[in-house]
Amino acid sequence: MSDNKKTVVLLRGGIDSSVCLAQAVEDFGKNKVIALNLYYGEERKKEREAAKRIAEYYRVEYIELDISNTVDGIKKDIPFKNGLMISTAASVALSKGAGSIQFAVHSDESAGHARPDCRESFYRTMATAINEGTDGELKLVLPFTDMSKKQVMMLGMKLGVPFVHTWSCYKSKEKPCGKCLGCEGRAKAFALIDEEDPLLK
Ligand SMILES: [Zn+2]
Repeated sequence: MSDNKKTVVLLRGGIDSSVCLAQAVEDFGKNKVIALNLYYGEERKKEREAAKRIAEYYRVEYIELDISNTVDGIKKDIPFKNGLMISTAASVALSKGAGSIQFAVHSDESAGHARPDCRESFYRTMATAINEGTDGELKLVLPFTDMSKKQVMMLGMKLGVPFVHTWSCYKSKEKPCGKCLGCEGRAKAFALIDEEDPLLK
C-alpha cells in the first residue's frame, strides 16, 4: 500500500484509531502520516486532547477541524457522522496531496450495528465512491475490517501504543466515568487481552 504519497489517519483519540495511526507510522514512516481529528462539541473535548497527545507522541503532522457547525444545535452526535467524517477527510487528504485515508473500524464494531453508517457495506461503498470521485487518486483504507477488537488490542500491544494517552469515555471529566458505553467497551477490550487499563492505574 505504501507508495510515495502521504496517508491521512482519522484519529478520534480512542484505542482503535490510535492503533491505526501507530500501524500507519510503521508502514509509511512518520513524515508521510497526517493525523486528522474532526471534533464536535465540548463533550468530546477529552477525545480531542487525547488525539493531539497521540499525534505528538508519534511526531506526525496533526490537523484538527471543528465539524460541530455542520448541523445546528448539535449536543451529542451528528447524523451521518461517519459519512461526514470520511468525506471531510477526503477533502483534507486531497488538499494535502495524500493518496489514502485510513479509518479504523473492526469487525466486532461493524457487525450488526444499528446505525447504517457504521456498517461494513457502507464503508465499502464509501471506498468505491471516493475512488470514483477522485479518479483513483485517493483511496479509503479500512485496515481493521477483518480484525476483531481483540486482534486490534493485540496489535496495539505489539506496536507499543501508549494506551494511557487514549480516551474512550463519552464524558469529558477529569477521569473516565466508568459507566458510559465508551467506558464499558474499553473495559471489555482490556479484559479480552488480560491487561489492566493504564489510564485507570
Ligand atoms: Zn465513561
